[in-house]
Amino acid sequence: MRYSGFQVLKQALSGHKGWGRAWRDPEPQSQYDIVIVGGGGHGLATAYYLARSFAKARVAVIEKGWIGGGNVGRNTTIIRSNYLLDGNEPFYEYSMKLWEGLEQDFNFNAMVSQRGVLNLCHTDAQRDAFRRRANGMRLNGVDAELLDAEGVRKMAPFLNFGSARFPIKGGLLQPRGGTVRHDAVAWGYARGADSRGVDIIQNCEVVGFRIENGICLGVETTRGYIAAAKVGVAVAGSSGAVMAKAGMRLPIESHVLQAFVSEGLKPIIPGVITYGAGHFYVSQSDKGGLVFGGDIDGYNSYAQRGNLPVVEDVCEGGMSLMPMIGRAKLLRMWGGIMDMSMDGSPIIDKTDIGGLYFNGGWCYGGFKATPASGMCFAHLLATDTPHPTATAYRFDRFRKGLVIDEKGMGAQPNLH
Ligand SMILES: Cc1cc2nc3c(=O)[nH]c(=O)nc-3n(C[C@H](O)[C@H](O)[C@H](O)COP(=O)(O)OP(=O)(O)OC[C@H]3O[C@@H](n4cnc5c(N)ncnc54)[C@H](O)[C@@H]3O)c2cc1C
Repeated sequence: MRYSGFQVLKQALSGHKGWGRAWRDPEPQSQYDIVIVGGGGHGLATAYYLARSFAKARVAVIEKGWIGGGNVGRNTTIIRSNYLLDGNEPFYEYSMKLWEGLEQDFNFNAMVSQRGVLNLCHTDAQRDAFRRRANGMRLNGVDAELLDAEGVRKMAPFLNFGSARFPIKGGLLQPRGGTVRHDAVAWGYARGADSRGVDIIQNCEVVGFRIENGICLGVETTRGYIAAAKVGVAVAGSSGAVMAKAGMRLPIESHVLQAFVSEGLKPIIPGVITYGAGHFYVSQSDKGGLVFGGDIDGYNSYAQRGNLPVVEDVCEGGMSLMPMIGRAKLLRMWGGIMDMSMDGSPIIDKTDIGGLYFNGGWCYGGFKATPASGMCFAHLLATDTPHPTATAYRFDRFRKGLVIDEKGMGAQPNLH
């Protein structure tokens, strides 16, 4: 069934009893052409683009929990393409372009809202760095504007302009950046993939890989063995644990990242605002809640919950940037598991095991990458060659010293 305004009116006349299921609940088959492990945003997008744009293959997505239960339904929904380095910028801009046509493409309302992403700067050196990044973006054909303090004040007069310690000197604005309703992205891709014949199998954990003579023949799951000509792993925060089952050790650590939502308030935050003197960022959801977050917890963990020192740190950042936030009540908070890579950039590549492919290392910026990640992983699985925008995301970049260290932090996953 196609979703449309007409369909809403039609269904309203019959008490909304005619809506079909958004996706089926199929039994796993014994064999597929391609199995995607992980039903998060990246796994579902991969299946969708495989079915829509590439092979006429029999594809299954194997998810240990439920669709939307991982980071795709836990993130703070920010999309942007304001990167500096060549390995990253074309990829993230490609993702932005896919976001811009996504809702029409998969016929689902994902509430794509390009309200702008504003990074604040508080020192002259930071302003110079932003100018450089803005120039890099423009050279790649991406929208970027430098604002002075007055320009920032016009957009967000409620910020703390009187701070002697961290004066707001201006900001880097990407007007096309913004937010997208995160779990609707998972649902939209799931529905689109299912309608094109992909089997989405929930409550089915991959517990091992059957590998013979260096070739992956399929996956062992809690619902039995499933054979596959190709297996693509896209399990985000569980990357290290899952790939260990294939005998691989990854340049990735898992850390917790927390998110926070306040009670609903009248519209006040124009887009996404990030603080440059501490790690704090904030936007406002359509329901009115302030959605904010900051640093990862900084220790290795597979728990989907965080600890109080980071709660305090994030709230301090919020109070320093916009003291009025102290009047708002915190409504809820949660954590997700981040697959932090050694250079802060992702991996979309074949492994040394025949028929086994990997997608991960998204750190805490993988939501905005979802459409391009899915398209590039589908391209790799279907053609065995990397997509032109993802040629840098190879495993061997760590061996060859070709790291894409956007933040210049070195091999410090907890700082990327
Ligand atoms: C609090 C928070 C805020 C964030 N904010 C942003 C943001 O504003 N912007 C942005 O771009 N990014 C953000 N991110 C990062 C982004 O959410 C992730 O990088 C991205 O969602 C990861 O890809 P995914 O959607 O495929 O992951 P997931 O949704 O986690 O999907 C992986 C799936 O694999 C499944 N799985 C794991 N092991 C197995 C197994 N053995 N068998 C079968 N299935 C398995 C999991 O159950 C899970 O559903 C944030 C993350 C968090 C936690």
